[in-house]
Amino acid sequence: TQRFIWPMAQFGQIINMYQRARASSARIFGLMDEPSRLAEDPGAEDLAVGEGDVVYDDVSFGYGEETIVEDVDFSVEGGETLALVGPTGAGKSTVLKLLLRMYDVDEGSIEIDGQNVRDVTLKSLRRSIGYVGQSSYLFYGTVRENITYGTFDATDEEVREAAEAAEAHDFIENLPDGYDTMVGERGVKLSGGQRQRVTIARAVLKDPDILILDEATSDVDTETEMLIQRSLDRLTADRTTFAIAHRLSTIKDADTILVLEGGEIAERGTHDELLSNDGLYAHLWGVQAGEIDELPQEFIDRAQE
Ligand code: ATP
Repeated sequence: TQRFIWPMAQFGQIINMYQRARASSARIFGLMDEPSRLAEDPGAEDLAVGEGDVVYDDVSFGYGEETIVEDVDFSVEGGETLALVGPTGAGKSTVLKLLLRMYDVDEGSIEIDGQNVRDVTLKSLRRSIGYVGQSSYLFYGTVRENITYGTFDATDEEVREAAEAAEAHDFIENLPDGYDTMVGERGVKLSGGQRQRVTIARAVLKDPDILILDEATSDVDTETEMLIQRSLDRLTADRTTFAIAHRLSTIKDADTILVLEGGEIAERGTHDELLSNDGLYAHLWGVQAGEIDELPQEFIDRAQE
């Protein structure tokens, strides 16, 4: 499939939104490993994921007084992919932080296979949800340790299989000490595309029921991008996936695309449906496809409100 590069120069304000978007994935990942400050119900049971259906029922939330997410209502069938797009500050990351229960909703509820995320143990919730993102970090340790991070009882064979599925095995073998090569701070420097594939291997090994995908960095060559896309396709197949996307070409095949604006769902549908809607999505797509030069002022104004 044809992939499009952001026409950066034409973007002005909008590009800023997407750069800032990168920073927020770090927040998601950082928070995922933090012990939650939220109280757990003493009688909480472990989450039991079956199909992996996720339902947001009229969810509203604010970090403080201001409402950041308003009446967000959608459901994802197990195995499907839901993409979240929209300007910076629209609330994409916040919507997913609520799924991970980094914060509790103010109104409404979020259920996974009929279980309210408030009622299950945080450990089981976080164990069921994997994260792959551009800011996924490697810690100082061996490649193997970086892949097995979060999965304690993996055999070398399983690690290798995960790396193969992530299109990472070949480059790992070529590192000075293979899987025992020290990476991360003070270790061997890996490229962005290589780091990404190590974290994909980590997710393959973790085999979570639900996956959060924060779009791949765009500063990789076409071949690497193709490898990453292929491994991601494998990873997301038959797994409930939430994808935060900046380049729309990566999510055009999603089962449902939600366009968030100001914390509310402004548009929803498949790629084709949204194109015929002729709203924000259609115009963003037009810019990214090079069909129109710039986003009409009305959308920029709305994004800044
Ligand atoms: P981006 O694409 O930049 O990541 P986003 O659509 O993911 O944007 P969020 O990161 O969910 O948007 O942010 C939504 C709003 O909530 C923004 O106005 C942001 O400033 C605010 N916000 C995010 N995190 C916090 C926080 N921890 N405390 C207070 N406000 C926050």
